[in-house]
Amino acid sequence: MAQDTNGNIGGDGYDEDLQSLDIDDDVEEIDFHGSAKPPRRARGTMGAAAAAVVTVLVALVVVALGVGGWWMWRHHWRTVDVSVDGETVSARADTTIAHLLADHDDFGRTRGRLLSLKGKVLDKDGGEPVAVSINGAPVPVADYGTATIADAETMTVTPGKDVTEAHTSETRTKRYGTDINLNNGPIQVVTQQGEDGREEVWIGKRSKEEVVHKEIKPAKKLTVQSFAPQPAGKKVIALTFDDGPSQYTGPILDILKQKKVKATFFDLGEDALTYPKLEQRMVNEGHQVASHSVSHPYMPDMSRDDLRKEILTSFADLEQASGTKTRVLRAPYGAFGVQQWKDTADIVDMNVLWSIDTLDWKRPGKKAIHDEVLKNAYNGAIALMHDGGGDRTQDIEALPGIIDDLKKQGYSFVTIDELCEMGGVPKPAQGKE
Ligand SMILES: [Zn+2]
Repeated sequence: MAQDTNGNIGGDGYDEDLQSLDIDDDVEEIDFHGSAKPPRRARGTMGAAAAAVVTVLVALVVVALGVGGWWMWRHHWRTVDVSVDGETVSARADTTIAHLLADHDDFGRTRGRLLSLKGKVLDKDGGEPVAVSINGAPVPVADYGTATIADAETMTVTPGKDVTEAHTSETRTKRYGTDINLNNGPIQVVTQQGEDGREEVWIGKRSKEEVVHKEIKPAKKLTVQSFAPQPAGKKVIALTFDDGPSQYTGPILDILKQKKVKATFFDLGEDALTYPKLEQRMVNEGHQVASHSVSHPYMPDMSRDDLRKEILTSFADLEQASGTKTRVLRAPYGAFGVQQWKDTADIVDMNVLWSIDTLDWKRPGKKAIHDEVLKNAYNGAIALMHDGGGDRTQDIEALPGIIDDLKKQGYSFVTIDELCEMGGVPKPAQGKE
């Protein structure tokens, strides 16, 4: 036991203390570790709020999905049964009218046609599509690509309407037409001047067809009518003398004056200028002076310009010689047709033919000339004789007997103007020269 005193005094108790200290230290260490762990109670409060938000969000999503799903089902996914003109057709709700029509070949209805302005078929399917009504309400064609059958219960499909092609429009002059009838008697009168009209013309963009859409101003026809005046309750005759004046005119005027008879002279312009005193005498003694052209041409062979010049010059010559204006003509040979009227209706009021041709120019003798008139005389007759253009001795010889014998039959003698007035011939519709 002496060895223990050198090294460790009361060694046993010391070791035991140290051991107990060590044990205490160990316990304290254990306690420290337990209190140093992360706090559990703070983490539990924040988690509850987040869970509430999430719950609301999830609920909203669920509702949204529900509503959206219902909407999609209602408008897109479900199958709709539509009664199309009594036949049930099933299709998805989002099927457009255009697709439904395409899938069913327009339900056998025809599309409208594209027509030209004159009604020619340009495209048999080029008109409006078939017409569709849903639940009784017409669907505009423009909506076929977007409108669906979602709300459709009944649907009707009828043929599409025809469509007329597009057009352009022009205002044009409408040339006047003519109504010239020269077959009803020897007196031809312009009763209406021709007047151009205006019209709106449509031109088909595709067909190029042209149609008159509307008349803006009607054209007036040049109208020439012919008359055979027979004054009611009268017995009148018109003696007419052509191709003068000449040296035979004076004796004829003497006879007419002596027998108090009025006549009508169709004079040549160039001869009127040669015998102005005879022209003036005719007028002074109450006879009618009218034109037989300037120099007796065959008028149908003349150009429009030449014809108008011939006639206007003759009127001017007669006015110069006699001081009298006239717009009355007897065309040489009576040759004045539809074309001559078209060319001159604005300058000529009247063309006067005859109903008794004495054929005096053949010089058949005074009796033949006399008999031709007497044999053919009637109320309103116009007898043709000549006071120029050749030897008119036979006319001078025949005239007294013609007048006397007609008077015996009760005739009185009138100029052409008087005959027209008495016989109700319309006043000429004078043109503006
Ligand atoms: Zn003549």
